[in-house]
Amino acid sequence: MNEPTRRRFIEAAAVSNLLGVGTDESTDFAFKNNVPDPLLAGPELPTFKFELEKSTGKVDGKSYGKEATVEQLPISKGIAGVSMVLEPGVMRELHWHATAAEWAFVIEGRVRTTVISPTGGSEINDFEPGDVWYFPRGHGHVLECLGNKPTHFILIFDNGYFSEFGTFSISDWIGHTPKAVLAKNFGVAESTFDNFPKEEVYFGRGAVPPDKPPPPLQGPQHAPPLTHKFRLLAQHPHAVYKSGREWRVGANLFPISTTITGVILDLDPGALRELHWHPTADEWQYVIEGQVNVSMFGSHGRYRIETLNKGDVGYIPQGYGHSIENIGKKPCRVLLGFNTGHYEGIDLSTWIAANPKSVLATNFSKPEALFEKFPHKQVFIAPS
Ligand code: MN
Ligand code: MN
Repeated sequence: MNEPTRRRFIEAAAVSNLLGVGTDESTDFAFKNNVPDPLLAGPELPTFKFELEKSTGKVDGKSYGKEATVEQLPISKGIAGVSMVLEPGVMRELHWHATAAEWAFVIEGRVRTTVISPTGGSEINDFEPGDVWYFPRGHGHVLECLGNKPTHFILIFDNGYFSEFGTFSISDWIGHTPKAVLAKNFGVAESTFDNFPKEEVYFGRGAVPPDKPPPPLQGPQHAPPLTHKFRLLAQHPHAVYKSGREWRVGANLFPISTTITGVILDLDPGALRELHWHPTADEWQYVIEGQVNVSMFGSHGRYRIETLNKGDVGYIPQGYGHSIENIGKKPCRVLLGFNTGHYEGIDLSTWIAANPKSVLATNFSKPEALFEKFPHKQVFIAPS
């Protein structure tokens, strides 16, 4: 069972327990019939928008982390996100995430990451705008701002219950472990730890890191077999249309990224990323530039449109119909994250084109000739 499936299984089991039918058989039934999330079972669809950049988050000087988890955006059970800025000389300290993998897209500035793998090797990489990283669940890492300008990046986690502010930090751990244990662990004097931080550091402050990364304590890097870095916007878009383009990276191009696919979608003014759905993943959205209307169709006549401005987050549950339309006067750019390494989507134009016109005529009680006028292949991005 893969992770998203396992999570849904657990949720389905929880629902059947709530209903007092928690036998193995009914849990099985609930899972196979995909019991709806109670949040999505009401007569109206809940909001799927959160104004991330307008929230406060955790601030330290001009560095900050703002998060969108189920607490801020209850619908977003499958994916959490964070907007983070680090000033020059600031690092996001050594930490790991017990319950989520981390995917990132750099918007501004430069970042250096060092990540440990269970093989004992580490990889040090420098990132620029348009670059992506992926750290598997539980792999320890540190993020350092490079150079004399701040860096801004968006983090995506494959678990909506994950909180960036509930991560496992090295200072927190060492600060709460008895000095005698630390002294024995590292073979140094207890007094070594006299002035270590007692609480989590979170943002560390120091000198701007050197241009060339110094070698690790253990000597030259012996990097894990799979790299954690992918230069997304340095590639040609995987699809170009008259009124927009899309870059997409999943496990096919970036093998370590087994649980997340990332997309950068550019739409010209008035362009529409057409009505579609994703059979196997939830979709997390962050507007990097511009203003869009996002529609969501939730069956039983339930339809909702949210306007997302620059810095806002949207969320579409797996299987729900949706579209994205640029309603501004300038081109827009949206970051999309999916909690699967293997992206799948079905577009409405493709579905219609894949049926005989006799079927469509009967379905809509219209003459067959009408459907000749419909596209005979996928639209994907419709022009203004
Ligand atoms: Mn992290
Ligand atoms: Mn989509």
